[in-house]
Amino acid sequence: MSESRAFCPRCGDPVPERSADDESDDAADPLRPGSEVDLCDSCYFEDFDFVDAPNRIDVRVCARCGAVYRGNRWVDVGAQDYTDIAIEEVSEALSVHVDVEDVAWQVEPEQVDQNTIRMHCFFTGVVRGTPVEEQVMVPVKIARQTCQRCGRIAGDYYASIVQIRAEGRTPTSEETDRAKEIAHSIVADMEATGDRNAFVTEVSETDDGLNIKVSTNKIGKKISNKMVEEFGGTVNDAETLVTEDSDGNEVYRVTFAVRLPPYTPGDVIDLADDADDDGPVLVRSARGNLKGTRVTTGERYEASYEEGNSPDARKLGEHEDAEETTVVTVEDENAVQVLDPETYQAKTVARPDYFDADAETVPVLKSRAGLHILPDESASASAEE
Ligand SMILES: [Zn+2]
Ligand SMILES: [Zn+2]
Repeated sequence: MSESRAFCPRCGDPVPERSADDESDDAADPLRPGSEVDLCDSCYFEDFDFVDAPNRIDVRVCARCGAVYRGNRWVDVGAQDYTDIAIEEVSEALSVHVDVEDVAWQVEPEQVDQNTIRMHCFFTGVVRGTPVEEQVMVPVKIARQTCQRCGRIAGDYYASIVQIRAEGRTPTSEETDRAKEIAHSIVADMEATGDRNAFVTEVSETDDGLNIKVSTNKIGKKISNKMVEEFGGTVNDAETLVTEDSDGNEVYRVTFAVRLPPYTPGDVIDLADDADDDGPVLVRSARGNLKGTRVTTGERYEASYEEGNSPDARKLGEHEDAEETTVVTVEDENAVQVLDPETYQAKTVARPDYFDADAETVPVLKSRAGLHILPDESASASAEE
């Protein structure tokens, strides 16, 4: 039995002894059953096929986004141009013999015409201690098409609209910019997981806010929830029947109406129903119940549960309307004299507890409610929530 191992099973030529670690057991080597005896080198190389390559490769590429059709679906491959795609497809289609070690290959693309690239591939490797090399040429034919997603985008397809509105005001540019950012980042996250059905169809400014058309209801829902999470307010959704699909199922489009709260952080408001007349409030947060700071005392204010984020109030101005003015003198623990930024006359105003007695200047807001010292920007940022 051990004799048979020493001869080529095809031509009967003697084959060299195996290496030391292989010859420990000749009868029952589990990795090499007795039937599979090694061929001699010349019989081995007679059958040896280094590279297995198709005669040609047809590839369908979306002319708009560069996606490639593989199997039965469009796949984003992140290729920069058609040569990149051809290289990628050839790498997928070629295979080399499993016995070869130290395989290296390079490819030289040759553009034949707009839709044909000849791929000249050079392979090297080592098998049975013998260097081997092979050249193959595979033509790649590119068919330019439009993938389903690009077709839908071009056709202004959308399944959902997110309307960004605000109560009693138009949304700020900070809010609308953030809404766009959220929409694009949600879509990017979904694309990153291979979801090709996620896209923003259209973003349009309206007189009272922003409309975002998106490809699925799920995206619309995510955008509106995120906006409310960050800015407060509410979201209502409503379905509209748009059509029936080919199977007779009703197709609905969902509108998510985001209503942002009436006041935003930085607003200074005068509460209408303020029995104690504790003075205007600088809004800190409009998420949940409106929260802020009294600009007369520096005390914390929070609207009741019933009032939520929209207590009955009028807006006096914003923190960024404040002007830096000179502190004339500190009268006592409740009063400070500052210069009126318009008339330059000294005026006695309430002293909030965030007032710094060493400050030479302070930001003040002049409004219908009078003159009030506001906290420094830096102080107001750190006191958020
Ligand atoms: Zn042989
Ligand atoms: Zn496409």
